[in-house]
Amino acid sequence: MSFEKLGLIKPLLSAIASMGYEHPTLIQKRAIPLVLAKSDIFATAQTGTGKTAAFALPILQRLRKTEANEKRLLKAVILSPTRELSIQIFEDLQNYAKNMKIESAVLVGGKDIASQQRAMKKGVDIVIATPGRFLEHVENGLNIENIEFFVLDEADRMLDMGFSKEIRKVHPLLPKRHQTLLFSATYSDKVRKLSKLVLTKPAFIETSKKNSTVDTINQVAYMVDTNRKAELLAYLIGSRNYPQVLVFTKTKASADTLVEELKKDGLKCDVIHGDKTQAKRLKTLQKFKEGSVKVLVATDIASRGLDIEELPYVINYELPSVAEDYVHRVGRTGRAGREGEAISLLDIYEKYDIKEIEKVIGMKIKKEVVEGFEPDPNIRRKDVDEKRLKGEHKNPHAKKERAYNKNNANRPATKKQMKVSKKKRKTTKRD
Ligand code: AMP
Repeated sequence: MSFEKLGLIKPLLSAIASMGYEHPTLIQKRAIPLVLAKSDIFATAQTGTGKTAAFALPILQRLRKTEANEKRLLKAVILSPTRELSIQIFEDLQNYAKNMKIESAVLVGGKDIASQQRAMKKGVDIVIATPGRFLEHVENGLNIENIEFFVLDEADRMLDMGFSKEIRKVHPLLPKRHQTLLFSATYSDKVRKLSKLVLTKPAFIETSKKNSTVDTINQVAYMVDTNRKAELLAYLIGSRNYPQVLVFTKTKASADTLVEELKKDGLKCDVIHGDKTQAKRLKTLQKFKEGSVKVLVATDIASRGLDIEELPYVINYELPSVAEDYVHRVGRTGRAGREGEAISLLDIYEKYDIKEIEKVIGMKIKKEVVEGFEPDPNIRRKDVDEKRLKGEHKNPHAKKERAYNKNNANRPATKKQMKVSKKKRKTTKRD
């Protein structure tokens, strides 16, 4: 199937042809006709499947009537979880709309709101924003009476980041008649609840199995001791001649420590995480895109919105705290059908955490050992007994029960509990 067959207009066709897109991806094939036909949509699409073009192209096409208007009215708002992703969407839109007269603006935190308001004065058709900053603009008088398109990109991530309140506040302020397009990589209860609130008779598009990772990604886990992870990472990058690697850590502190370690090994690396200013993050990202930084160490905040062409390797130096984030992390590689490799370094503590991830992605990840980095069999987990952990994995409620018992150990029993326990005591075998 070609893009022409989807009914796209010439200015868009020539823009995407110049970007090297030959055939629409699955999500584009399904979503473009629906958006053109004015339907609300609920799409579960993995990161890297081409979902930006899936909503951007038909929106641009439907906005072409407004191109000639002298006075621009805000017609579309795209909410995304992070500054980086918002900027990425903005850049994609600029490329898709390069043969059209459509103005877009990015409204994200970290920038002076007054200067954003001044920039908006000249009139824009499309705004790409993070939810908090968008609400701030609305509360400061941004006119949203003419909105026709409301896009929630990476809705699951926005909810995980606590943006539910902002989205719920903005939604009733939009004009009654508008079209809503909701995209989410995962299909959680929270997303389902939000979809009920914001969507009207939506068309459902499911381009992949729930929470599954892209097929073209080869996923492997190497077992290694905690204190040898940095050494193994440097060894893998060096010995396998990886040209460019994105490395994920769980925390900002471990990202900073790891970068220092890797620098000692002579690797050109840098770090992006929430403590870095937006200007610094963008500069680092640019250096990574250009190739002057070979290893980019990032926390999960950066796992969305990074669009680096043909990034072949993603390494999970530490597994994410939230299993679903694994999907987003590894989605950085294998984009738009290209092959990629996702490697996770697992220490004795993460050996069981990966089972949660395997449940989410619905498949087992191969576990291997790199010669010279075999885990020391004498090292035991300090926090818990491994046997019990194994048992807990078979009985997922055991962990909750143990946590409950621990939290309630010193709590005085309620009258009701005392009654129950007296009753129980009467009937126990020992009595
Ligand atoms: P996205 O999922 O929107 O972040 O897109 C992932 C990557 O795929 C981006 O680099 C896009 O430029 C690229 N892309 C999107 N659609 C296509 C297509 N039809 N053919 C080739 N590349 C595409």
